[in-house]
Amino acid sequence: MQYFNTFKQCIVETALRLLEQDVLKGTGGNLSVRVTGQQAFAITPSNFDYAQMTLDDVCVLDWESTLLEGARKPSIESGMHAAVYETRPDVNAVIHTHQPYASALALINKPIPALYDEQVRFLGRSVEIIPYAPSGTGFLKKKVQAKVRNGHNAFILKNHGALVLGSDIERAIHNLYLLEKCALTYLLALCTGEKISRIPLAVREIAFAKLRADEKRQGDKETW
Ligand SMILES: [Zn+2]
Repeated sequence: MQYFNTFKQCIVETALRLLEQDVLKGTGGNLSVRVTGQQAFAITPSNFDYAQMTLDDVCVLDWESTLLEGARKPSIESGMHAAVYETRPDVNAVIHTHQPYASALALINKPIPALYDEQVRFLGRSVEIIPYAPSGTGFLKKKVQAKVRNGHNAFILKNHGALVLGSDIERAIHNLYLLEKCALTYLLALCTGEKISRIPLAVREIAFAKLRADEKRQGDKETW
C-alpha cells in the first residue's frame, strides 16, 4: 500500500544512519515506527543486513503481529514493539539496540537512578530493568508491556540490551544517545566505589511532570 511507504522510508533511512554511527551493528538491534491512524507499525526485517535494506524489505505488521506488507520475515522482537504501541499511545517510534554501556548495566542488573535533570525530562524518573525473558517470546512481550506503563522512555533488558521509545523517530534517537551517556557515566561512577549523588527529589518530580505533560498531549493526538 502506497500509504505505508513514508513509514518504510523512515525505517530504511534511520537504520542506515544508526549503522553509520555504529549504534546498530550488522543485523543486531531493530527499530519500528507507528503507522499513523492505524493499529500497525513498520519494522526492520529479521536477520537482514540493514546496509542493503530497501523499502520492499521493511515489514508492516498489525498489533497481533500479522504481516500486512513485506516480503521478508519481520524482526523476532516484533511482539515487544507491538506491546509498546498498544500500551503507549504517545509513542510513535521504538528502537532496540545492544549498545555497550546500557548492555553492561543489563549484566550487573543495575537500574539507573535519577542522575541528571535532562535524563528525567526525556527518559523518566529512572531507567528500570525489564526482567529477563528469551528474545522473541510472549514472556518478554508481557514483561515489556508491564514496564512501559510507567511512562518512561528508556529501559534496560536484563542480559540483553536497551529499549528506547519516542514521540517520533528523532526523539527516540535522542533518547538512545542520552541513555548511553547516562549509562557510561553511571558505570564510571560505580567503578570509583564512592557514593553516587542523585538530583533532588523535587527537581526530579518537576522534570518528570514535564515529560508526562508531553506524553499526554501526544497521546491525545493519536486517534486509533
Ligand atoms: Zn536484541
